[in-house]
Amino acid sequence: MMKVKVAINGYGTIGKRVADAVSLQDDMEVVGVTKTRPDYEAKLGSKRYPLYVAKPENVELFEKAGIEIHGTIEDLLPKADIIVDCSPNKVGAENKAKYYEKAGLKAIFQGGEKKDVAEVSFNALANYDMAKGKRYVRVVSCNTTGLTRFIYQLKTNFKIGRIRATMLRRVVDPKEDKKGLVNGIMPDPVAIPSHHGPDVKTVLPDVDIVTTAFKLPTTLMHIHSLCIELKENASPEDVISVLEQEPRIMLVSAGDGFTSTAKVIEFARELRLRYDLFENIVWEESIGIDGNDLFVTQAVHQEAIVVPENVDAIRAMFKLAEKDESIKKTNETLRIQKVF
Ligand code: NAD
Repeated sequence: MMKVKVAINGYGTIGKRVADAVSLQDDMEVVGVTKTRPDYEAKLGSKRYPLYVAKPENVELFEKAGIEIHGTIEDLLPKADIIVDCSPNKVGAENKAKYYEKAGLKAIFQGGEKKDVAEVSFNALANYDMAKGKRYVRVVSCNTTGLTRFIYQLKTNFKIGRIRATMLRRVVDPKEDKKGLVNGIMPDPVAIPSHHGPDVKTVLPDVDIVTTAFKLPTTLMHIHSLCIELKENASPEDVISVLEQEPRIMLVSAGDGFTSTAKVIEFARELRLRYDLFENIVWEESIGIDGNDLFVTQAVHQEAIVVPENVDAIRAMFKLAEKDESIKKTNETLRIQKVF
């Protein structure tokens, strides 16, 4: 089978996970990853994948550090069919102008980029077909992916109206030591709405959603508190049975000891490499209906949830598979399956 050659620009939190996920697929391969500086991630990365220097002016730093490199980003581009840009927020757009456009390459961007960096904002369940054959695709952020998946699954099974959602956001990822929020809760932004609602509409334009968001001093996961208007009669059991059908949504129960994100992550440490949870984690007991309003609480593992979406985006852009086939393949390789 011919394999799509994938390069990853920015081997950080998302980049290393996307590289590992791509390397598990039989229809794509990692031809190289990049780092800007010769740190521990570069040292480890160079033992797993051909390593290239993202900023050509830093080559000497890698040589001095004794890290084996295969060249710079400029040497990597001709070896790839597609580049998955996993550089920090807004740097992807700069890389596009500087490198990808000239190289005539397809590229995937992450949720830290503005929507106009790409032709399509992507979520595999919601709009796989929109990315077919496209040159530039943006995989939406972790919070938007979590919201979009849940809303898509609900709206394909029930008639729904207005959606109100509050995001309780982890302040930074666990590895961060330069910034954070040690003791406080920060409305982010103070004025409504937060950007998440408009971002969901880049994938699902017809949903009526408004979101608010707060940063909390935790690093493990985000929490979403959702209130969704139901325009038809449904019971919590009906909602549960619809969620049970989707492998990328995992139902957990407080009765099993899932009392907080701390317990969810402890469970994930038993389940997966890097305790990655690619699924939305929905608390079964949180699913309640009051009048026309459905209430739900879900948790999102920000470091992992977008990883399967990047793999499916590659398949869609090269028309390697139809939606269901791609999602099934990605789920199997990443072991996304019903655990309970
Ligand atoms: P990160 O800081 O962990 O990794 C970014 C990597 O890019 C680092 O290795 C850095 O050295 C490298 N880099 C810096 N400048 C570069 C350049 N000019 N060219 C290439 N690489 C460069 O960041 P991250 O958390 O992996 O975020 C990457 C993207 O993914 C952002 O758009 C972010 O918004 C998005 N995202 C992050 C999360 C998350 O929670 N971490 C979740 C979903 C989406």
